[in-house]
Amino acid sequence: MAPTFVENGVSAFTITVNGSSFISTSVIKWNGTALTTTFVSATQLTATVPAANVSATGTASVTVFTGTPGGGTTSALTFTIIPASGNVHLTMGNPSGAVKNTSYPANYLITRGQYALSYHRDRGIANWVAWQLNSTWITGSAVDNDQFKTDATLPTGWYRVKTGDYTNSGFSRGHLCASADRKNTQANMDTAYLMTNIFPQTQANNGGPWAVLETYCRTLANQGNVLYIYAGGQGTGGTGLNGYKTTLANGVLTVPAKTWKVIMVLPSGTNDLSRVSTSTRCIAVVLNNNLGPFSSWGTYRVSVDSVESLTGYDFFSNVSQSIQSAIELNADSGPTQ
Ligand code: MN
Ligand code: MN
Repeated sequence: MAPTFVENGVSAFTITVNGSSFISTSVIKWNGTALTTTFVSATQLTATVPAANVSATGTASVTVFTGTPGGGTTSALTFTIIPASGNVHLTMGNPSGAVKNTSYPANYLITRGQYALSYHRDRGIANWVAWQLNSTWITGSAVDNDQFKTDATLPTGWYRVKTGDYTNSGFSRGHLCASADRKNTQANMDTAYLMTNIFPQTQANNGGPWAVLETYCRTLANQGNVLYIYAGGQGTGGTGLNGYKTTLANGVLTVPAKTWKVIMVLPSGTNDLSRVSTSTRCIAVVLNNNLGPFSSWGTYRVSVDSVESLTGYDFFSNVSQSIQSAIELNADSGPTQ
């Protein structure tokens, strides 16, 4: 069988299975479900594996089924879906099973050195952005120069949000991955200004508890922790300085109703995924995207499970289910500064 593994989130690909006594009606099955199979010869079949089959990490069983007479099912081969390597930001999981394939415009995976995200073409904003934070990322002197940039890496034909789409809207250009979290090099800082990392956020929210929580995350990083952070906007419709709006710029850009964050905090070390335990600190908040008035960020803490219910995503999906159940159950009650 080739390949025997892929990274999660890849596009549809062709799998080749070698064997014997294949006939034109033999089919390759993926976890028992037939794939669209091509008969190459009595010793070789190929099939297309859809992207959706490999969006999540794990294993799948691959068999060949040949009908009667003389057929049957071959013994299973194990196919492995490994975590998308080179993307440290998805160490704890890809919460929506985002796919790096334009056939998934509502859940399109973009991976960068600086962060990873699931983009929603028709909302014009990310579903979520994921990033790792430790002291390395924030030790440096990159200039935070407010240079918002259209993301020219979006697929051809997709609308590319411009900074001007926010002008006079009553909403700020809110960073998901904070620019101050990518301060170690100018290139990293500049990448935080791509419009795919920006969403319409009231300044009361953005400059209020949202900003204070960002600062607290950097404090935790400077205290010797590594953080895995997810942030996004949920729902539709917020109230900014010019009133309630569901979209901006003639509908190309959706205003979320709520802004949320999910944060895991680990002491710095190696092999972070293996060190998550039932006592690992996790912080989650949900804020309304309106004018407030807002209180201190700690008052908005909820359980990770409640953000999963709100968004439909599964955070920390690379962590064992038993540990997830423990760390996602309760709202954080730790220090807030
Ligand atoms: Mn859960
Ligand atoms: Mn989870």
